[in-house]
Amino acid sequence: MEFSDVESDLTDILFTQDEIHAKIAEMARQIEADYAGEKLLLVGVLRGAVMVMADLARELKLPLEMDWMAVSSYGAGTQSSGVVRILKDLDSDLEGRKVLIVEDIIDSGLTLSWLRANLESRGAESVEICALLRKPDAAKVEVDVKYAGFDIPNAFVVGYGLDYAEKYRNLRGIAVLAPHVYA
Ligand code: 5GP
Ligand code: MG
Ligand code: MG
Repeated sequence: MEFSDVESDLTDILFTQDEIHAKIAEMARQIEADYAGEKLLLVGVLRGAVMVMADLARELKLPLEMDWMAVSSYGAGTQSSGVVRILKDLDSDLEGRKVLIVEDIIDSGLTLSWLRANLESRGAESVEICALLRKPDAAKVEVDVKYAGFDIPNAFVVGYGLDYAEKYRNLRGIAVLAPHVYA
């Protein structure tokens, strides 16, 4: 789906498909340099990270495996509580593995800091994070994102895997959702 297909639902257009692909290629070159000769396990966080995972994995010139987890934050409201529930767990044994968590966006960072600790506790040799987008609030929690794509303003964005009420995930680019959509 293109921006023009849902034009009235969007305010600012942040990144086109081409800009996203260029950024993912840039991150892939760093990952290749850091994991040369290693057997990498990419862990995608469902469902938002599906597009990033698909493009990053194909861009990487490394042998790798892919696995998936689905998590949800407990708590009322729209803010992460930091208490996370596993909805779908990994199939892989993490003992001795080099794990790279692949995420769409890091906001408060609560979900990712919980997830990293959880994966480390399973005996992974290393657990690093790759996130396509990062919001300013991410700075509030100690979470070291080794590979961060774009820093974005504190607005609700959709597209390229990111949803509002399960819609807009299939938008090719990333844009700010117009307030009238959720008002
Ligand atoms: P946090 O880092 O606050 O624990 O939560 C991150 C999660 O909140 C993301 O994985 C994503 O599902 C959701 N999220 C945060 N900001 C946005 C946004 O601007 N748009 C969308 N669609 N989801 C967001
Ligand atoms: Mg996510
Ligand atoms: Mg969502």
